[in-house]
Amino acid sequence: MPSLLVKDAIILTQDAQRRAFRGDLLARDGRIEALGGDLGRDADEVVDAAGDVLLPGLVNAHTHAAMTLFRGLGDDLPLEEWLRSRIWPAERHLTRDEVEAGTDLALLEMVRTGTTAFNDMYFFADATAQAAARAGLRARVGATLIDFDTPELKVDQQEPFARSFHKRWAGHPLVRPTLSPHATYSCSHATLERVRELREELGTFVHTHCSETRFEVQDVAAKMGARPVEVLRRHDLLRGSVLAHCGWVTKEEIRHMAEAGAHAAHCPVSNLKLATGGVMPMEEMRAAGVNVALGTDGAASNNSLDLLETTKFAALLQKNHRWDARAAPAQAVVDQATLGGARALRLPADGLVAGAPADLVLVSTKAPHLRPLHDPVSALVYGAHGSDVRMTVVAGQVLWLDGAFRTLDERSIVARADRAAEALGRVVADEAAARS
Ligand SMILES: [Zn+2]
Repeated sequence: MPSLLVKDAIILTQDAQRRAFRGDLLARDGRIEALGGDLGRDADEVVDAAGDVLLPGLVNAHTHAAMTLFRGLGDDLPLEEWLRSRIWPAERHLTRDEVEAGTDLALLEMVRTGTTAFNDMYFFADATAQAAARAGLRARVGATLIDFDTPELKVDQQEPFARSFHKRWAGHPLVRPTLSPHATYSCSHATLERVRELREELGTFVHTHCSETRFEVQDVAAKMGARPVEVLRRHDLLRGSVLAHCGWVTKEEIRHMAEAGAHAAHCPVSNLKLATGGVMPMEEMRAAGVNVALGTDGAASNNSLDLLETTKFAALLQKNHRWDARAAPAQAVVDQATLGGARALRLPADGLVAGAPADLVLVSTKAPHLRPLHDPVSALVYGAHGSDVRMTVVAGQVLWLDGAFRTLDERSIVARADRAAEALGRVVADEAAARS
């Protein structure tokens, strides 16, 4: 693989001391070889950062990549109605080809906005895994377990599929298989117990939805005999798991999450858009020692996959909710978007240090909305947009630089996704007409 030298950047190392300095970074064979003031110009590719900000790649800790196909489909509807009238009818007819088309569109957007790794849960997991591997992104892709037939698998096929999916992807350098029980409201005790056994057998981690809405918490308490976090705890499914949302959790539940080493994937934009009401108690999570990561959720409920945008929402939501401008400071949410996500996805989380994987994002600081640059960390959170990302690098490979994709064909991917979305839109319209 060609070596890469980034010259004259403001390097936010995100190392243990959160050191920042102006200088160079050299990557070779997928790893960071050196960092320093001036490393010369001896590399296959030299990128002149000229004072732009270099930091570890952003990690999207909860998404459903293929749901880009549903972006803008039924916005401004209540969650239940939105699912019943738009998303579920469309999902019933999903094909593998469409999932691939939607995932490729998501990859374009994630690469372009600085995401280097994502944690996915959806149907047709092989299509998502293959798309990520082709594009050169790191991905954790869950085999979904849920108590109804999916467009891909009948209920009784889901467990054998999880096993074979793991076999296919276990040794891949970028993509790792995980287990995704959809949620405690859609998985029975028996299913959750099978997930626990599968986790032990396959040696992976669990990624699930948890305590997104108040209705869910009440519903699960009534049907399962305990609130979602407690249900997971009773099945030993808190241990090391990534729990998306956690908007309606108690202090005791946070304590249980901390004890079990569970990770919280905070998705503020999705929560706000779907009006889930509860706000993830970020400060209590941090105080208890729960690792917090950031996610976009699927593009159907966001509508973007721009993780820089999510850092701003994460910070502002906490501040406003708590009446405290000191809550969720910029450095904390940058930590969540980089190191927190890396920990949740079982990636090295030491920041930009020699020997670490060369997963990098270079953010331009030249646009008017980022000048003057008093504080690069705060500029990233409060000022920068995904469109300010100049370069995205995974394992030393440049995926996006100065307006050009290196591994993805933007024009054909967008055209294919448009065609797939059009077909799905027709299906939803036909179903709605048949119902009325
Ligand atoms: Zn989700």
